[in-house]
Amino acid sequence: MKNSNIVFKGISISPGKVAAPACLFSSQFHRTVPEYQLANQTEISNELDRLHEVLGACTVELDTAYRRTVEKIGKAEADIFMVQREIMLDKVIVERIVAEIRDKRKNAEHAIFSVYNSYEEQFMALEDQYLKGRAHDIVDIRQRLLGHLKKVHPVFICEGQDHCMRGQDRIIVTQALSLSMITHINASRVKGFITEHGGPSSHAAIIARTLGVPAVSGVHNIMDAIHCSDIVVVDGDRGEVILRPDAKTIVQVRVEEEKRTTRQFAVLSPKGTEVLANASSIEDVTKAAQLNADGIGLFRTEFIFIRSDRLLSEEEQFEYYAQAAALMEGKPVTFRMLDVGGDKPLPFLNIEKEDNPYLGWRGSRFLLDNPDVLAAQVRALARLSRLREARMLFPMVVDVRQLQLLLRARNDALESFDYNPANLKTGVMIEVPGAIYELDKMLNLVDFASIGSNDLIQYLFAVDRNNEHVGEGYDQDHPVLWKVLEEISQKARAAKKPVSLCGEMAAVPGIPGRLMAIGISSMSVSPPYIPTVRDELISFSRDRADCNTPSP
Ligand code: PEP
Ligand code: MG
Repeated sequence: MKNSNIVFKGISISPGKVAAPACLFSSQFHRTVPEYQLANQTEISNELDRLHEVLGACTVELDTAYRRTVEKIGKAEADIFMVQREIMLDKVIVERIVAEIRDKRKNAEHAIFSVYNSYEEQFMALEDQYLKGRAHDIVDIRQRLLGHLKKVHPVFICEGQDHCMRGQDRIIVTQALSLSMITHINASRVKGFITEHGGPSSHAAIIARTLGVPAVSGVHNIMDAIHCSDIVVVDGDRGEVILRPDAKTIVQVRVEEEKRTTRQFAVLSPKGTEVLANASSIEDVTKAAQLNADGIGLFRTEFIFIRSDRLLSEEEQFEYYAQAAALMEGKPVTFRMLDVGGDKPLPFLNIEKEDNPYLGWRGSRFLLDNPDVLAAQVRALARLSRLREARMLFPMVVDVRQLQLLLRARNDALESFDYNPANLKTGVMIEVPGAIYELDKMLNLVDFASIGSNDLIQYLFAVDRNNEHVGEGYDQDHPVLWKVLEEISQKARAAKKPVSLCGEMAAVPGIPGRLMAIGISSMSVSPPYIPTVRDELISFSRDRADCNTPSP
């Protein structure tokens, strides 16, 4: 009899709880393929037919993935499928595979495998970080082609192949999620995710939050412990995984989830507060709108660029921003200006490797050094201002001098540009401790401020926000942090400028009420956390009202 209720610790990346059978995925399938010699011309032509059939099938598949992603997420993110299509149909690559079959008389699997492996090796050996990154696409295409040839799904490793449900009504357990994997599963039927790697800002986290299913990441070696079809609980609230839960635990999880589901659409923010959503895709904005979010407090625009793997034009950005703003039907939507660097490099820009990327060419520093990139984004938002309010937020601003330079660059971009100044609002992120000493002056120059507590904590306590080994030092309840937050709140009140907090701490139980107590009653969290933050603010407001009611 196997042990039950075994608890594994990880990091919560999407809230909620679910109990369901596990489905194990791996992207390391097809490490070896059959190799044999073709005996005659008939076998050679059969193999060439197989190759062309598989190229056709994969083209259709990539076209479908492209269309679905355009509909569900956005054109920019979908472009990666077109890039892969182009590589797959590249004449030189196809001709090399054909030569392996025709001249070396190798079977199609082996021909694809060896040609793609040689490209992968060549790309991996390159210095250029962008081209190195393209090696993943080569692997992805190879897996796709081999999967079709062998009639086995390329990204599946599943002990229970016979009863494998491809994640349908199951919890996906994997090393790390990839875009390609997501296109091969019916993501809307997935119950939860468990990954061995990937922090809260990883793709896994973004996808899981967008789907609104519980997810826990950083569960090391979980793939060795779980077997396909084992029942597991993903507890995205506590960041835990329970392997083989007993009957009582399963019932408890189901009752809690039922309550949560019925309640989440009904709860609204209490009077005088705002619970906004953090977003990085159209899917997130859609989810936020469904949950009646009071607006989007932080749209991390860099993710559109990262997913598209290139810089986007003013026109492309405008379309994207307009779509997001329209979904929120007049509620405020704050677009954070491109915040690259740190853990969010833009590989296609081929930026030199830095020893200290978090203290390097990040956020506003990068924007000031790339005035064309900044100008395109400013103009895209200025175009939006012709239709509705457009809010731009400058990240990682270090002092008033830098803010002045950013505002000058913004004004330069707007010179003789047709826009509606009354609708174009500018804000500053407060996430670099030094900036707090000049906050009064900075607030006079902008319309609003937003506290980026993720980075603020990182720089206040010299602790890497993504490093699992120093996680204890990443204290979201440190008295010094609260002192700093109070000071920011007072300064914003004195300057009569609205301030909200958009770091992950706003979603931590116990914190929303305390933020409200110090005068920060606007907070922005990932969509699935909106109902719980609202619940907390409601009970905090009620307690406060009770205290203020004179006793009879
Ligand atoms: C922050 O730093 O708190 C923030 C919201 O921005 P990001 O997490 O994208 O750095
Ligand atoms: Mg930040």
